[in-house]
Amino acid sequence: MPIYFFMIAASLLIALAFIGNNLLLNINENNAEIRVDRAGRAASAIVQSNIDGVAVNRDSNGSPVSIQIDPALLEPNEQYNAVLDTIGSVNEGAANIFRYNPTTDSYDRITTTFRNPDTGERVGGTMVEPGLIAAGHPAFENLRSGQVFVGEVPIPAGLRLAYLTPFVDSTNTPVGILASDVGFVDDLNRTNSDVTRNTLLYTGLVLGVILAASVFFLRQFARPLYKLIGIADSLGSRSAVDEEQLERTTSGLVDRSDEIGALARGLGKFADVRGQLENQAYFDSLTKLPNRATLLAGVSRLFATNAQSTFAISILGVDGFKQVNDSFGQVAADELLVAYSDRLKSALKDDEVLARVGGDEFAVISPVDPRDEEWAKGLHQRFATAVEEPISTSSGEARISVTSGLALAPRDGTEAEKLMANADLALDEGKRRVRGSFQEYLPRLSEGFERQTQLLPELRKAVDEGGLEMAYQPIFDRTGRVRAVEGLTRWNHPTLGVIPPSDFIPLAENSGMISSIGEWSLERACVQIDNWQKSLEEVPSISINISTMHLRHPDFVRYVARLFQAYPGSRGKLTMEVDDRIMNEDDREWHTEILEQLSSLGIVLSIDDFGNAYSSLTQLDGLNVHEVKVDRGFVARAAQSSGYLQLLHGMISLVKGQGKTVVLQGIETPEMLGALSAVDCDTFQGFALAKPMPAEYAAELFNTPHPEVAQRIGLQQP
Ligand code: C2E
Ligand code: MG
Repeated sequence: MPIYFFMIAASLLIALAFIGNNLLLNINENNAEIRVDRAGRAASAIVQSNIDGVAVNRDSNGSPVSIQIDPALLEPNEQYNAVLDTIGSVNEGAANIFRYNPTTDSYDRITTTFRNPDTGERVGGTMVEPGLIAAGHPAFENLRSGQVFVGEVPIPAGLRLAYLTPFVDSTNTPVGILASDVGFVDDLNRTNSDVTRNTLLYTGLVLGVILAASVFFLRQFARPLYKLIGIADSLGSRSAVDEEQLERTTSGLVDRSDEIGALARGLGKFADVRGQLENQAYFDSLTKLPNRATLLAGVSRLFATNAQSTFAISILGVDGFKQVNDSFGQVAADELLVAYSDRLKSALKDDEVLARVGGDEFAVISPVDPRDEEWAKGLHQRFATAVEEPISTSSGEARISVTSGLALAPRDGTEAEKLMANADLALDEGKRRVRGSFQEYLPRLSEGFERQTQLLPELRKAVDEGGLEMAYQPIFDRTGRVRAVEGLTRWNHPTLGVIPPSDFIPLAENSGMISSIGEWSLERACVQIDNWQKSLEEVPSISINISTMHLRHPDFVRYVARLFQAYPGSRGKLTMEVDDRIMNEDDREWHTEILEQLSSLGIVLSIDDFGNAYSSLTQLDGLNVHEVKVDRGFVARAAQSSGYLQLLHGMISLVKGQGKTVVLQGIETPEMLGALSAVDCDTFQGFALAKPMPAEYAAELFNTPHPEVAQRIGLQQP
């Protein structure tokens, strides 16, 4: 664009120079014409005043057209020399007198004067030079017809600009010529060529200066423009914007009042908006941590730079977050998440990256030494310790543990998505086992996931065609008697063998089959109670796990009522274990009513896995539940840490204070038994006491005290 401006300016300048030059040439030409006219006038006037008997004829402008003379006077003589000398000195040129020679039909020069231009001396004199103006001479025809000739006439040294006035006799017949000139035409033209040359030279110079100045100013003007274009380009592309460069470039420009200032301000605003959009796209608005997409992009970059680099992704699940959310409300739950993320951040090493990858999930990328066999444990421990202390929120204090699922690159995946998915699978497995634990990814977890989706049609078949069985795990009281059994559903697959509920209950919940399984379990328990009542003196109650999804079924209470009509002996002998989501504040009214109805039907109600968010203790009060089963993970932690043991003490006393029974479940090893021996609890369940078993084996344990059991748990003397 600027080049066009320059071209227009240059064209105008050249046109101006051309017009100026032509004007000057015209003026010059006019001057020459005026000068030669004056020379003619001067010459005729001098001749008239110096030679007797001479009369000058003039036109209306006063220019001579002829000079009347007696032809006899046209002879060379000294008087003519003096007259011509005067003419030459006045005209600053040459002067001649010619006489017509009828014999040769030409004009002979009879006297001349010529001023040497270099010395100023007069050259010439009286002589007859025949035939100097003859046919072919440019002035000849004019003069022969008695007319003036004004113009260029040739002499041996060149062309001269002359005024030739014919001498005529009394009959007006041309008899001679008075010629005066003003110099060589070349000398006169030289002025013209000087003017043209100088015009060209100065125009060229001015053009050069304009070009140089244009280039200089354009560069000055364009430099910030190019920088702004570079910024606009990077803002418009996917590449990252160099904030510092943006600041540096725009800071000096935004105050300008011209278009560049406006452009810089506009780009600054655009960069701000882009920054906000990027923040929303790449960062979690609550914790300000990178989000899942950013983490995945980071992992992809790691793989791209070094496909063989060894690093771990740990997905850190916030245990029991849902319960905190339900009981504390969203504001406090958000506070908890922020505090939780701060704790995790404080445990980060310099080369680790933390992100929030889900509602209650964080993820850490950590470089790992693959020779370190304990890497997973070390990583988990660091973050578990960071969140060990209770977290204060505006709605109260919460103690929230972390469960980690870990995957190691490149071993467990060489693509970001795959690695994350495997860490997620490991987390699910860890949560399923014990909350607060860690789980490394194992290939069988993927198999399990794939297997679950394949299993769905087969599970439906098992539910419809009697492929389920029930195992019974005794629950002991302090004296070693079996006070109850928990009925745990087993799926005896024809080719895969016994499939645990952890594999198929989630599948049933997701596919809507959970109600069928629940109804099967309840009926199976009633049949079993009925059988035992026929053969045994005293029959313990059977606890059945009921999914909250099933509990919310509109026909659930009516189903239980019909069941008791069919199996009246089960009334008072059937316990329902429901998880602590039942305390959800939002549905509390509705849940309270269902629990009332079930209780009035004769169902004993138990809250299962209590302690994920023990802070909901207050909400437990007032609910029509008879028993609380402490979460297996919580029991495990209490067996290991004195802090948790203290909490367990407090929790038990509060629950018992509400008139409810407490069951400690998941007592797995003799060491746990030892650690928990001092706890003031009523009933106990766990592999260390008895594993889930078929009905006939369980029945053998009923009605007899088991002092060895009581002794094992060291509880015979409370
Ligand atoms: P739950 O209600 O917490 O049941 C106790 C689970 O802990 C059982 O696992 C039992 O085998 C296991 N367990 C008992 N003592 C110990 C111990 O000392 N150490 C360890 N590590 N585990 C112990 P199971 O049978 O695999 O059941 C898992 C879960 O599946 C149950 O957890 C329950 O929530 C669910 N479930 C089982 N049967 C049914 C059912 O019929 N309906 C529904 N809705 N859920 C069921
Ligand atoms: Mg249970």
